Amino acid sequence: MPFNDLSLDPRLMRSVQHLGFEKPTEIQHEAIPAVMIGRDLIVSSQTGSGKTLAYLLPMMQRLLKSRPLSKRDARALILAPTRELAKQVYAQLRLFVANTPLTSALIVGGENFNDQEKILKREPNIIVATPGRFVDHLEHKSVFINGLEMLILDEADRMLDLGFMPQLTVINKSADHRLRQTLLFSATLDHAEVDELSLALLKNPHRVAV
Ligand code: AMP
Repeated sequence: MPFNDLSLDPRLMRSVQHLGFEKPTEIQHEAIPAVMIGRDLIVSSQTGSGKTLAYLLPMMQRLLKSRPLSKRDARALILAPTRELAKQVYAQLRLFVANTPLTSALIVGGENFNDQEKILKREPNIIVATPGRFVDHLEHKSVFINGLEMLILDEADRMLDLGFMPQLTVINKSADHRLRQTLLFSATLDHAEVDELSLALLKNPHRVAV
């Protein structure tokens, strides 16, 4: 099946074509339509499977279609366990966001807190972050997520192995459950803490394993 059959926004399709991607990977084929209709998702996914675009593309599609719930609040939050992964995700996001009116920011540990506060004051629509530094900003009230439309956890199992359950719980409680769609990606679904996290975060999730 070619990318054309996914009914992606022309602004996103232009970037897909520019990158020379012809067909969605298996995980993209499964996940993109389910996210586009608004389902919560649990996806077992490996690096190299194309998992990043499996969530970035339908996330941007939904943001382009819907109206922001609040002017001030972030609209989508993508969490990753490490700075390196967050930077890689952000680099992929930038390739697509550049063609759209959406704005984005990268908020990871190890970088100047005040500089990040200035970036957050510009009210970016999409934030890619590591959980620890993001919660520092939430507690400092430099960012608001009550009107969050999408919460995405990349490598959720690694975030739990690194001890981020408390931060994920704070983030979950700060964003209104009823309004938001949540996607959880994990290398393994055979993990008691991942089950606990899914129960706390997701509503009637669709499972994708490829
Ligand atoms: P990921 O598994 O998300 O880390 O992606 C692995 C690599 O595959 C990245 O360099 C992507 O740019 C690339 N990629 C993602 N989707 C596709 C696709 N449909 N066709 C070809 N390459 C892709």
